[in-house]
Amino acid sequence: MSGWLAVAGLGPGDEALVTAEVQAALAAATDVVGYTPYVARVAPRPGLTLHPSDNRVELERASHALALAAAGQGVVIVSSGDPGVFAMASALFEALEQGPEEWRDLDIRILPGITAMLAAAARLGAPLGHDFCAINLSDNLKPWETIEHRLRMAARGGFAMAFYNPRSKSRPHQFAMALEILRAECGDARLISFARDVTKPEERLETVTLGEARPEMADMRTVVIVGNAQTRRVGRFVYTPRSTAGAP
Ligand code: SAH
Repeated sequence: MSGWLAVAGLGPGDEALVTAEVQAALAAATDVVGYTPYVARVAPRPGLTLHPSDNRVELERASHALALAAAGQGVVIVSSGDPGVFAMASALFEALEQGPEEWRDLDIRILPGITAMLAAAARLGAPLGHDFCAINLSDNLKPWETIEHRLRMAARGGFAMAFYNPRSKSRPHQFAMALEILRAECGDARLISFARDVTKPEERLETVTLGEARPEMADMRTVVIVGNAQTRRVGRFVYTPRSTAGAP
């Protein structure tokens, strides 16, 4: 049997949001590799080996999965949301670049999933209905100065923004700094939504103004969405109109 490797997105949490394509790959797999909480979402069955690992070992995990596929296994690397959004798909290609030449001929597929910001936007209404960008607020893989610069530029460009990994215990002050920058660039009246555990039973949605926003409203289970200058409420929803008059 020839091996294959799929990098699959499990969506934000609700099993109904796992695509049929990802379900089929998991049903055909001999091995599932990934960060422990994501692997825990895959039901054990005879013939399937689960390989949970720690969050900080992305490259080793990717190389391990490639080696398994090269040995003839059917391997799925699982990510939450979409595997191409701040997740394992890029790590896989980095490992492929550094690994043996013959790995490049493997049957490799990236299977998309519903990323957190899109699931959150759908719950809130349509805050990303005009131009937007996504920024990872973690400085694990880039300098904090880069994050500050991109925040300012995105705000000045008139983009709505989605923030991943907004506030962790190891860097509690940075999100407060991000809010300061946003208040300076966008003003106190701009809407900001905190969407925690989207589509899971514990889901919590909260929309306030930047003037009311407090750092504690975000943690690592939250995706944060900041509207553009036109973003507004209608009833219990938040939306950004399809058209915008002037720039930005
Ligand atoms: N690949 C994932 C993102 C991984 S980065 C995706 O496409 O969604 C991890 C960050 O994603 C978290 O810190 C949080 O900001 C966000 N996130 C993932 N799942 C979430 C959920 N169910 N609810 C809210 N935020 C979520």
